[in-house]
Amino acid sequence: MLNIEHLQQSNPLISTLQTYTPTFWHNPNYGSNNELPFTIEDIEDAAARLERFASYIRHVFPETEPLNGIIESPLKQIPAMQEQLSHQFGDNTYANLWLKCDHELSISGSIKARGGIYEVLKFAESVAQTAGDLTYNDDYKILATDTYRQLFKQYKIAVGSTGNLGLSIGIMSAKLGFSVDVHMSSDARQWKKDLLRRYGVNVIEHQSDYQFAVAEGRKLAASDPTCHFVDDEGSADLFLGYTVAALRLKQQLQDNRIVVDADHPLFVYLPCGVGGGPGGVTFGLKQILGPHVHCVFAEPTHAPCMLLGMMTQLHDQIAVTDIGLDGRTAADGLAVSRPSRLVGQIMNHLLFGVFTVDDQQMYRYISMLHQTEDIFIEPSAASGFDGIRATIKQAKTQGIPTDQATHIVWSTGGNMVPEDEKKQYLNYGANLR
Ligand SMILES: *Cc1c(COP(=O)(O)O)cnc(C)c1O
Repeated sequence: MLNIEHLQQSNPLISTLQTYTPTFWHNPNYGSNNELPFTIEDIEDAAARLERFASYIRHVFPETEPLNGIIESPLKQIPAMQEQLSHQFGDNTYANLWLKCDHELSISGSIKARGGIYEVLKFAESVAQTAGDLTYNDDYKILATDTYRQLFKQYKIAVGSTGNLGLSIGIMSAKLGFSVDVHMSSDARQWKKDLLRRYGVNVIEHQSDYQFAVAEGRKLAASDPTCHFVDDEGSADLFLGYTVAALRLKQQLQDNRIVVDADHPLFVYLPCGVGGGPGGVTFGLKQILGPHVHCVFAEPTHAPCMLLGMMTQLHDQIAVTDIGLDGRTAADGLAVSRPSRLVGQIMNHLLFGVFTVDDQQMYRYISMLHQTEDIFIEPSAASGFDGIRATIKQAKTQGIPTDQATHIVWSTGGNMVPEDEKKQYLNYGANLR
């Protein structure tokens, strides 16, 4: 049993979390040394695998043609949004503001197109090599042929999800020919279930939360030897799929002449649910860009699971419900009450900090971004904007110079949201005072 009173004494911030007040937690272990379970070679291996699949992806998803079958998002400067924020808050904090547009990612319109699709492709490659004739030297376009589709049909992929991971896994698996089960929690949007069913995905609805949907999926998959279960709470493959973003971002920084060094630090703001996506990106960035990139996670005030897990060092042994929070948020993908069992430890010395965001604030930012830049992103994806000021303040107390810093808000989703829901979100955000 957890001794909450004792935890409160050693972690006074818990009482702030308990009142759903937005807050910033600086990681006291940031920058110290630690053993890590993965290396740069793992990132490069994942990147090479995605390269091998590029001709297949390009063939079956013609929308990926412009990038030759590589699923990547643009990095965009957002000067009008920057000006609006500076105006609103009356300071210069927001100089050099960029948006990493994962809401534009092909196939599933969210950051899950990185990890989710990678894990499915890795499984497909292994099946095609062990039960089929595929070799590394083949043009992977042959995986679209009937021979391989028939082979994949004998295997199943299963996942538990609030929605976006289900979309990525479901669409990719169905395209390859796998039979696929997506276990959805009760907060998953109807349009996501409808869309998946149109792809031929078996959507199983649970009247319960995300954790339960994952547990159910895991249980059913365990009894089926032909079933590969994508475990959002601890999969190394998912994690490594996300890390590849760092190699791509490095190139984009160079293309835009953005320097990252001691005088020009880079701050990256990442919305966090169970932690795999933002954790993978952070691990990659720290390996590839080094000590002057500082990553910060954004979590809803109602579900700060990573903050709680890292601060108490209990990781997946504590849930936000243990301190009396309800875990409820409108932010798709972030309604998670217990963090990944893999990510928190890896983040232990790599993550600068975590801040919490009020749901309404996310809606304000999505409407502001839409008005200033004509870009639509979903509420969770906008949460990063809320942490910039607090992060800079914290950085200054750590002796990190921030005057020439670059800030990247990682926009994790939005393109798949149906038009009528987009309008609802934007109206709601615009009418908030
Ligand atoms: C899943 C998701 C996240 C967070 O990713 P995790 O791996 O769950 O931490 C952030 N934003 C959106 C839109 C998501 O779908």
